[in-house]
Amino acid sequence: MLYLLSIDEHWCHKSMFHVSADLRYRLVPGYETSWRSLLKLFQMPWWTRVWVQQEFALARGAQFVVGNVMVPASLANDFYKSYANHLPPGSCCHESVTWRMTSELWDDITQKRLALWGSSAVRMMHLSRTQGNAKKNPGTALRELLWLLRTKESTDPRDKVYGVLGLLSEVSLSEQTLLKPDYSLTASQTLARCTQYLIETEGDLMALVGPRTRRSDLPSWVPDLVPQDRRGALVSFQNISKRISCAGLFSAASGKGLDCSFSGTELRTSGRRLMKVQEALPPFQNRIDYGGIRQCRDLVRTAAQNAPSSRSPERLSGALWRLTLRDTVVGATNRRASARDWICWNILSVWLGEQDPSKRSVMAASHPDFARISKSFLVAMQSQSFFVTDDVHMGLGYETQPGDEVWILAGGKVPFILRPVADGRDQEARYTLVGDCFVEGIMDGERADVASWDTSAERIVIC
Ligand SMILES: [Zn+2]
Repeated sequence: MLYLLSIDEHWCHKSMFHVSADLRYRLVPGYETSWRSLLKLFQMPWWTRVWVQQEFALARGAQFVVGNVMVPASLANDFYKSYANHLPPGSCCHESVTWRMTSELWDDITQKRLALWGSSAVRMMHLSRTQGNAKKNPGTALRELLWLLRTKESTDPRDKVYGVLGLLSEVSLSEQTLLKPDYSLTASQTLARCTQYLIETEGDLMALVGPRTRRSDLPSWVPDLVPQDRRGALVSFQNISKRISCAGLFSAASGKGLDCSFSGTELRTSGRRLMKVQEALPPFQNRIDYGGIRQCRDLVRTAAQNAPSSRSPERLSGALWRLTLRDTVVGATNRRASARDWICWNILSVWLGEQDPSKRSVMAASHPDFARISKSFLVAMQSQSFFVTDDVHMGLGYETQPGDEVWILAGGKVPFILRPVADGRDQEARYTLVGDCFVEGIMDGERADVASWDTSAERIVIC
């Protein structure tokens, strides 16, 4: 079964599937036992361990041994590649096969793919480096690797960092001390040092972009590499990865360089406080229907009517479509949205409200960019909460609430949401990081005012 799945061919040619009378792809009955067995194999805890990634990614000729059966591990990678080449939105078999799989079949494939996801990506990353491709910034390489392996588990949380360093030829442990394995440090200190390394080595705040978890033992600016809810997190994992990589398309601080210092659990930096969150909707879930867009529209209309400003309700409605894409169209190469994407977005917005599956298929097939735009919409909105600020700007961010503040920080490509901490110490303004955000109208440095940064930006502590 693994061999059949690993062949790089159009998925309509794979012999284990057939198209039933209702035009859905299903498993051919004789294949069910081996399909279930393979699913069991991919559900084994081995796939979730962080240390095995190193063996798997660096091995020249690994073999899987299960009972008395031995197969080349490369088949698992080839399966992942065949999946990635044919089934995702924008690929050759997406419309003809992916869309027509029964939901049970699709769930099974998702399970198998997720077991492989981090491992295969790590292996491909490693291969592309050994084949002499340009060297990445070591901070970027490590940040991407840690994110890919975020869903993997290690008995000792410090090994989430130490266990992957062997995969990176870019990171030279003799030249710097922040990452040197030191088991006298706590897990939280290890992760804080690692984050400091990423920020200083990349020279920007990309390490702060992405979801945060509120763990009391971690400073808010340190990403939690030990997620509690593995299954739930996995489903949206790839979309969030895309969203993080798209943050590089913006320049909210207009090139104003990093201005950070670290001491223990505190990160000091300079920034501009631009606005306050006035009202926020609860975060969107995995399925977003037309009601979601309507809620956003209603919220911003009311806000614009109540707070007379130069931003008319009509203009804000016009900006809403771009916001729901985070002004980005994702694909093999991500790009910023353009005015011509509006037509396709409009089809999507009608599609979201349509219940009839056959009408939905017709709509989806009516525009060549439909798959990309609908994927972009999900990447932009999933697990994000829509908010309106006190000066009637619209934004998307992680679980934000009224009173949170939108900031541009030195070295930040995207703005951040910070929550003031009232702790009685007046000499320094203290905040916790809620997360990165998208706010229309400030993403390209419009409000950075770099020329007067040194005289007018505020100094703050994030803890
Ligand atoms: Zn294909």
